[in-house]
Amino acid sequence: MREEDIRKRDVFNRYLDLSRKDAENFFANHNRFIDIQCPACNSGNYQYEFDKYGFTYVSCPVCHTLFVNPRPAFDDLIRFYADSPSTHYWVEEFFKPVAEVRREKIFRPRAEYVTEVLPNLNNGVIGDIGAGFGIFLEEIRRLWPSRLIAIEPSIDQAEICLGKGIEVQCCALEELQGFENEFDLLTCFELFEHLHTPVDFVQRVFKLLKPGGHFLMTTLNGQGFDIQLLWDKSKSISPPQHINFFNTTSITLLLQRCGFQIVDVSTPGKLDWDIVEGMIKNEETSLERFWHLLSRQGNELCKNEFQDWIARNKFSSHMRVLARK
Ligand SMILES: [Zn+2]
Repeated sequence: MREEDIRKRDVFNRYLDLSRKDAENFFANHNRFIDIQCPACNSGNYQYEFDKYGFTYVSCPVCHTLFVNPRPAFDDLIRFYADSPSTHYWVEEFFKPVAEVRREKIFRPRAEYVTEVLPNLNNGVIGDIGAGFGIFLEEIRRLWPSRLIAIEPSIDQAEICLGKGIEVQCCALEELQGFENEFDLLTCFELFEHLHTPVDFVQRVFKLLKPGGHFLMTTLNGQGFDIQLLWDKSKSISPPQHINFFNTTSITLLLQRCGFQIVDVSTPGKLDWDIVEGMIKNEETSLERFWHLLSRQGNELCKNEFQDWIARNKFSSHMRVLARK
């Protein structure tokens, strides 16, 4: 898989431009920002890392989580996601054109992973938080007769799910009424980096799961290869959307703190090297000389082997966690 397959460079850059403008327009009033403690380990200490688009990123000296602090109020973030130029662009121009490619390369393998690691859930109740276009649930439906529920706050995307015959709760997880101890599996993909208060979210997931139920999530790993190398230049580090960068250790801490047992933490990412090489080749990003050498002289096999090494040793910026209540 290549980065260009799942997000076109010019479209992604346009999206980031709109995000930067939204960051200025929606969040100019920093008086409404609030100070937080480390979202993973709750430590009150942090050290300054960098500013980006008017937001300050700090890191926790205990668990090395990278996060925006201070950060916007919850209501202001919800308002931004409900109706902003960058959000509309993301749905219409960024996601829709690559939705079917993503189905094949991302969502279908994800559904197959679930059926492999949790084979007893084939008749269970499965909820996808931030279900978007409902593609993951569609792929589960192809494999299993489970009861499927999309939890999706965007009215437009909830309607897309409904149109596909998927049961929908049109709200944020934090607003979901009922359902305590009802789910066998809750999933959330590429959502965690956006959350205002991750601990509240995880506690809510815990309550909604049956005893023995599972939580499967993917998120960005702040200790992943491309993020560490590109750091403040990384396009993954994009406020106001991406405000939490946990790592394999700190996500474990948070989930255990909320009562979960960890089943597996891995980084099955495929794009770290491709993202770095794209920045070197197309965006004139200057890195230490070895990375330019690898970009010029490494053949495809060499680069694929390097990416496999990154993923296998938990250094990819794409992280997956499976936990049990
Ligand atoms: Zn911490």
